[in-house]
Amino acid sequence: MGALADRLADSLALRKQKDLYRQRLTLQSAQGPVVRIDGHPYLNFCSNDYLGLAAHPRVIAAFRQAADDYGVGSGASHLVCGHSEPHHQLEEALAEFTGRPRALLFSSGYMANTGILTTLLEPGDHVFEDRLNHASLLDGGLHSGARFRRFPHGDVVALERTLAASEGVKLVVVDGVFSMDGDTAPLPALAESCARHDAALMVDDAHGFGVMGARGAGSTEAAGLGCTEVPILMATLGKALGTAGAFVAGSELLIESLIQQARTYIYTTALPPAVAAASLESLRLLQAEAWRREHLVHLIGRFRQGAGQLGLPLMPSGSAIQPLLVGDPGEALALSTQLRQQGILISAIRPPTVPAGTARLRITLSAAHSEAQVDQLLERLAACWTA
Ligand SMILES: *Cc1c(COP(=O)(O)O)cnc(C)c1O
Repeated sequence: MGALADRLADSLALRKQKDLYRQRLTLQSAQGPVVRIDGHPYLNFCSNDYLGLAAHPRVIAAFRQAADDYGVGSGASHLVCGHSEPHHQLEEALAEFTGRPRALLFSSGYMANTGILTTLLEPGDHVFEDRLNHASLLDGGLHSGARFRRFPHGDVVALERTLAASEGVKLVVVDGVFSMDGDTAPLPALAESCARHDAALMVDDAHGFGVMGARGAGSTEAAGLGCTEVPILMATLGKALGTAGAFVAGSELLIESLIQQARTYIYTTALPPAVAAASLESLRLLQAEAWRREHLVHLIGRFRQGAGQLGLPLMPSGSAIQPLLVGDPGEALALSTQLRQQGILISAIRPPTVPAGTARLRITLSAAHSEAQVDQLLERLAACWTA
């Protein structure tokens, strides 16, 4: 590999030197409030399994039953012969739950976002993205060929200025709940601004779907916005639903356009049918068991109150994502390691996932946690932070 190998080696060495080198953990258990690594149990505060459904017996049973009925692999892409009944049922249920005419499954959120943006946008169009949008939204916007602009985080006034100065097809794209900060987009103001300037609004609700809103339908439900205000609603199934994959919900026109043209939909194998069946069971559970959302909200309040009393650097988040800002990546890594030694699993999130100088511990809470586990987290944080 010669020159290529040299460059790769230099790049890895630089990452190590800057405390930006990343390593994977290997879990020996299912997701849950306690996970096993290297034979030891750890209290898990870094998973996105917000409702505790990833290893729920009913979700597992639905997965198993569908594997018996439909096998494991879907066998082909959706447009060839990989689209089966569980996919169809899940799409119908997601459309109904989100109050949209149709929904379309994608194999991952990353693929949904890049597929949606590169299908809807053409060179000459304008796409406006919040600076803190998820990487998949930024990548999709950049690859679309449209004029790409980022606006300061949550700044509707700054967005409105550039919207007013642009002509033609305009699309505004935001996370409903920002994945590394946990705060929510100002959706009502964004929707009004879009309406005033003939722009379409797309919301990626990966972290709001299942958690926010009276029925758990997400950030748009919490903001009281329907298909007219938010014509393009995307969410993932790998977070609150505890399974895998993603969907987009919207009009017949939107969905048919994506089926015909989205390359990340057309040129890939459909999700295993059993994943769709498990997701449908998860969706039923989250609809039937409001106590999961209620308990999560209670734990968020308990954590914030305790962390506030300890003087920990909380960020302005009301969601299950409760980051503690550290700043320096080396320090964030050291804190994460110290907590690990205390039996607590929290990952240090470093650039380029977050802006330079804003490394943090990204704590996530789940309905599967108990009050006692949150108290234990606070106790260990108190010890490590001052140490
Ligand atoms: C996780 C995430 C995605 C990607 O979804 P995957 O299904 O994991 O590919 C997209 N957007 C946001 C905001 C996310 O947090």
